[in-house]
Amino acid sequence: MTMRIAVVGAGAMGSLFGGKLSAVAEVTLLDPWAEHVTRMQRDGLGIVELDGSQTTVPVTATTDPAAVPTVDIAIIFVKAHATRQASQWASRFLAPDGLALTLQNGLGNADMMAQVLGSGRVVAGVTSHGATLLGPGQVRHAGKGPTHIATRTEIAVKLSDVASVFEQAGFEVHLSDDLESLVWGKLIVNVGINGLTAILRVPNGQLVEIPAASALMAQAVAEAEAVCQAKGVILPYDDPLSRVREVARATAANRSSMLQDVLRGVPTEIGVINEAIVREGKRLGVATPDNEFIVTTIRAIEDSYAVRVS
Ligand code: NAD
Repeated sequence: MTMRIAVVGAGAMGSLFGGKLSAVAEVTLLDPWAEHVTRMQRDGLGIVELDGSQTTVPVTATTDPAAVPTVDIAIIFVKAHATRQASQWASRFLAPDGLALTLQNGLGNADMMAQVLGSGRVVAGVTSHGATLLGPGQVRHAGKGPTHIATRTEIAVKLSDVASVFEQAGFEVHLSDDLESLVWGKLIVNVGINGLTAILRVPNGQLVEIPAASALMAQAVAEAEAVCQAKGVILPYDDPLSRVREVARATAANRSSMLQDVLRGVPTEIGVINEAIVREGKRLGVATPDNEFIVTTIRAIEDSYAVRVS
């Protein structure tokens, strides 16, 4: 039977995953952004592929949660501040034995989803894919890499079906039984890159070029590593700072999602990235002054959008 999937939050990543999965499953894209949805309904979703070629894929898209049929899988791809609302929407159409999958960045999205949907139905993972919205109905595939999803015994069979559907759509998927390692492995990269690129307004690669920026990055990453150690999380790599620097170099020209949020004057995901390190540090007795500095500065930037001089 064809898998039924809803993508809740069809922005950059939701459009990319939803567009590609539409070729192999019954997919509905749900997003409140009416102009984007109307364009996709009328013209299909335009995807600028990694090699620069352009494809257009027919998709089913709606702004109305009541129009989404019952689904086996709900993929939550909103920004963190909308996760609760997106989960409430998903609760209307996710089958009782369905799974809600988050591939969002940051710490705490899965817990928020579990409060609404029940922890038995929630699955978390991380993805190395990247996407940028070019405008209504248009997305650019900005980077590719593996997607890791955390599995557990009760849902292992169902998740391997999900993985094979993702593989058919062109996504490389690995199932892992160490959720903490996956989530923290990605979190530390975001901790090192996102807040600082947004404060400095530089593309990722500049964090390894500008000595003072590089020093700040090293301090923020060292604090996150200390929190990980106190928590007993085994990271998926040996040297966190080398890993973050490697990602910054590999994505040198990219604008991090937090920088894009700051440039657009919309709320950032600081609360589930650097602030998650501060929160966990407080709980575990680990000092995190550099992450506190990054959090306070981003909060000040968010609070001054309305009075900013250009
Ligand atoms: P985005 O801002 O492009 O898209 C989010 C979409 O959610 C928007 O279209 C918005 O209209 C929609 N939305 C808001 N409230 C909603 C609700 N209640 N229900 C349904 N839709 C709602 O964001 P993005 O860049 O696609 O990022 C999504 C998540 O993926 C974030 O957690 C981000 O950190 C993570 N991520 C992004 C990338 C990337 O390259 N963009 C890579 C990896 C992970």
